[in-house]
Formats: sequence, C-alpha cells, structure tokens
Amino acid sequence: MQINLIQSKTLLTRASGYLKGVCSHSLNPYTGCGYGLSSCGEGCYVRFNQWLTRGRQWGRFVDVKSNAGQLYLQSAEKEKTWAHKRSTPFTIFMSSATDPWQPAEKKYRVTRSVLQAMTTCPPDALILQTHSTSILDDQETLLELSQLCSLRIHISIEGDRNRLPGLPPPPCSIEQRILALQQLSAKGLKTVACLSPLYPLENPHRFFDRLKNVGASAVIIDHFIEGDGTAEGSRTLKTRLPHAMSQIQKDSIQLPYRNQIVNIARNYLPVGVSAQGFAGHYSH
Ligand code: SF4
Repeated sequence: MQINLIQSKTLLTRASGYLKGVCSHSLNPYTGCGYGLSSCGEGCYVRFNQWLTRGRQWGRFVDVKSNAGQLYLQSAEKEKTWAHKRSTPFTIFMSSATDPWQPAEKKYRVTRSVLQAMTTCPPDALILQTHSTSILDDQETLLELSQLCSLRIHISIEGDRNRLPGLPPPPCSIEQRILALQQLSAKGLKTVACLSPLYPLENPHRFFDRLKNVGASAVIIDHFIEGDGTAEGSRTLKTRLPHAMSQIQKDSIQLPYRNQIVNIARNYLPVGVSAQGFAGHYSH
C-alpha cells in the first residue's frame, strides 16, 4: 500500500452526472481506498476511473488530503452561496470515490477534521457513506452535526452473505456493520442500509426484517447494471463479481433480480432504487 500525504488544492467538487440529483457537492477526504482489495473493491464503481487512479492499481494507493479540514473552511461559504444561487440546498455527499472511514483514517483523521470543520460552517445537508464500523469513532461529532444540518448515514451492506465465492473478505463483517447501524440509529441518527451493488441474498425476508428491527430508516437497492455508470453493467462485467454472484444465484446478475428484491424489501422498509435512493427518495 502506497500512502502519500498531499496538500490538495480543492476539496468540494460541484456535482455532475448522476450525482447531480443526489447532492450539490461531493467531498473525498482521500483519493484511493484502503479497502480496494477487499470484496467491495472488486465491484467498486470507482476503480474504473482512470483520471483518479492515474494508472495505479485500485486498492494499492491512498492519497491523504492532509489539509482537508482547512480547505473545507476556506471554501464552504463560497460553495454554499453557489448552491443557493441555483436554488439548491448545499448538500454534501461524503464520499463518492473513497471510504471516509477506511483504514488510513485511524492514523490521519482527515475525515474527522472535515466533520469538525463542518460544525463551524455546516452544510444544509450531509450524506455520509461507509463500509466501516470505524464511523463509530466519530459518534459525538455526528450527533453535533445532526443538530446543525440534515444528516443521513448510509451504511453499505450489499447483502446477507459475508463471502462470495472466489472473492476476498469484506472490510467489516455483515454482523459488525448491522451492529454499527443499530448503534447509530439508537442514538437518534438517521441511518440507511445501502445494498450497492446488490449481492444475491440468502434470505431476503429475514435480512430486511433485521434491518428494520435494528433501526434502519430505509434501504437503497442498486444493481451493478445501471449502477456502475453503464446501462448494461459493462464495467462490472469485466470483474470477478458477476461470476461470483452467478455461482450463488444465476439470475442475480440480471436487472429483474433487483426488482424482485425491491418488491420484497418494500414489505419491511421504505425503498430507494439506485440514484433515486442515493438522493433520499424512497417509497413503500
Ligand atoms: S469501501 Fe467503497 S470506495 Fe472503498 S473499495 Fe469499497 S466500495 Fe470502493
């Protein structure tokens, strides 16, 4: 793993493409992801972004934006004004291209510095997304932020199986992530379970019932087809993920499988499908 400490020039990126419907800005405290060699890294939509990887192997590098907290304070007011001039709330998605609580965060605490900066200059809305239970390290700051802005926490839990055949283990077990979601929900924080990309489920009824019982306010269900930025899922089809999924359940690599799971999930929780779900639009 190559770790580079960098002084970034920018932090808040004005949303474009599918993110436009989700937020006004994305914020990535790191470039690259230390979870890139775990199971989620296999189907990670970001690994195909050559502008971002610049030829480096996904999961083998992390650029640490050491000055991120300071950059946030320097640019937040200007970006908030920019959003408001377009009659859009200043909504930050953290993160679209990395995990804010990846292993490097334990040492460098860049995400923490940004969250603390946000308590001084809060956005209108903040969407946090992670695979990691290390988010629990920042509960106090999250509680403070939830009083200052609309805060939503997406915990990525792609399915109810810890392992898919031929793929490495996940960053944290399913059980650990469900317990993190439960702990955050119990504190009154708004949590959403994010099945992205959706893996074949062993027992969907039991899974969604559990997510409901631990306090998830909604679920997002996103298939790699459409979800990976291509209509046919062609980026993901180049990886080992579809083969691993089809070994468990053949039809799970087709879009109708997503719709079938959406219908089951609706018996338990509000459901947001793909980009609509990331934007916080759910239906029963
Ligand atoms: S944690 Fe997120 S950003 Fe990191 S490799 Fe997994 S899916 Fe990609």
